[in-house]
Amino acid sequence: MKKLAEVLRDWEAVIGLEVHTELTTLETKMFCNCRLSHDDPPNTNVCPVCLGMPGALPVPNEKAIESIVMAGLATNCEIMRHSMFYRKHYFYPDMAKNFQTTQGPVAFCMHGHLDLEVSGAGAKERPDATVEKDADGGYVAPIRILRIHMEEDAAKMVHVGGEEGRITAATESLIDYNRCGTPLIELVTEPDLRTPEEARLFMEKLRQTFLTLGISDCSLESGSMRCDGNISLRRRGTTEFGTKTEMKNINSFKSLHDALEYEICRQAEVLEEGGIVYQETRHWEPSRRRTVVMRVKETADDYRLFPDPDLAPFDLTDEFIDRCRARIPELPDAKRDRYVADYGLKRADAAQLAGDPKVAAFFEEALEGVGEKNVPTLANVMVNLAPSYDALTVGQVRGVAGLLAEDALTFAQAREVLDAINGTDEDAVAYVDARGMRQSTDEGALGAIVDEVLGRCTDQVQQYRDGNKKVLGFLVGQCMKAAKGSGNPKAFNKMLAERLEG
Ligand code: ADP
Ligand code: MG
Ligand code: ZN
Repeated sequence: MKKLAEVLRDWEAVIGLEVHTELTTLETKMFCNCRLSHDDPPNTNVCPVCLGMPGALPVPNEKAIESIVMAGLATNCEIMRHSMFYRKHYFYPDMAKNFQTTQGPVAFCMHGHLDLEVSGAGAKERPDATVEKDADGGYVAPIRILRIHMEEDAAKMVHVGGEEGRITAATESLIDYNRCGTPLIELVTEPDLRTPEEARLFMEKLRQTFLTLGISDCSLESGSMRCDGNISLRRRGTTEFGTKTEMKNINSFKSLHDALEYEICRQAEVLEEGGIVYQETRHWEPSRRRTVVMRVKETADDYRLFPDPDLAPFDLTDEFIDRCRARIPELPDAKRDRYVADYGLKRADAAQLAGDPKVAAFFEEALEGVGEKNVPTLANVMVNLAPSYDALTVGQVRGVAGLLAEDALTFAQAREVLDAINGTDEDAVAYVDARGMRQSTDEGALGAIVDEVLGRCTDQVQQYRDGNKKVLGFLVGQCMKAAKGSGNPKAFNKMLAERLEG
């Protein structure tokens, strides 16, 4: 198969995502008072409503409606004041009622959008001129959201025995209804995404937004956030959509990117060989890095969708919507812009810190008392060093950032210190001082070393003067050696350059 870059020169990929998010932070299920927890023993959080007993009456969870309205407001959707629940009928044991309660043509949230900032290597995936690119090839892609509707999750099924990956007569199927009735919001994008990287960024941004809203733990691994990727190709320059396939079983950002990449290349090969792409559901196999057919869609599914007579239509009031709006915290984009404006952080660093509410809270606590001019160093530590460790305290990170900012540590030493103190209650400064790691930037003490090295390395000095500026690195190394590692390389660098140029 051809490589993605080659395929995307001739073909335009058209991608739309359907994203399901369980509202895991709520205490109870969507239509009953059962405890919302997937960790309890199977079938312990159940009642007549979520087990679908005849005559049991559902009562909507108001907090779930608040959560979806917050999600809609945060993604620039219009909040529909009037909407209702529908029944979507199907038979499968994971839903004892034989229908899923969901929404009809009008969802709580309609017609929103998220703007993606695409930069770096990922931006190269989009070669076309339909977006305006900046000097570095980066661009902004506006992605429309068709709707976000409210529904309920089904029970969890586990199939054991029988043949690997297939259900046979020897298979036993187990059902855990604890998950049945979990409040679930489904977001559907318009087919506006054009590259696997854009799809990955969209999911990432959505996850950051929902995490910041606190409406879900948004775990792709555990399945509280799930995503189906719809993809078709069309020749560059044409406008008509091709036939799409839908990909399931995507449980990481990397899988989403890789599955779309594979599928784009596969469809291109089929089309270039004169074949046809069938409208089918495909399953991503991460271990074999390919998609396989799950089922072919021959006819439109008939779910006998109709308004649920047990649930009254909704009339959301302005007061309710205002209350939801007031509960929305500062969102990642606004936070990023504030970090750039207030602390002069690099945009990418600021975006990374602002994207995860836990990281942002840690950063904001750590920057208290660190001194304004040292905040970029703190950000640097948090973006580049801290993510490798899972148990650092705010004080430890603040301490290491302070030492780095005053050039008392090299970056490599900072890593060494974090390595040692991660998971302990040891103070970073105390650790460094106890081991005499603190580097000198004292011009007097370092000056003597610099003079000694320049006096000894006459060949390299001549090479430098002849224009080979690279030997500076060698000379810094000699100074470091002479100082037995206690001199600051940046200080040596500066002093050497001054003396050599002077
Ligand atoms: P279906 O009826 O098969 O579920 P929908 O019209 O509901 O299809 O769309 C589902 C998702 O597929 C949406 O995210 C939409 O943007 C996307 N989509 C629709 N048509 C195409 C297409 N031709 N190529 C790629 N994605 C598409
Ligand atoms: Mg659909
Ligand atoms: Zn229940």
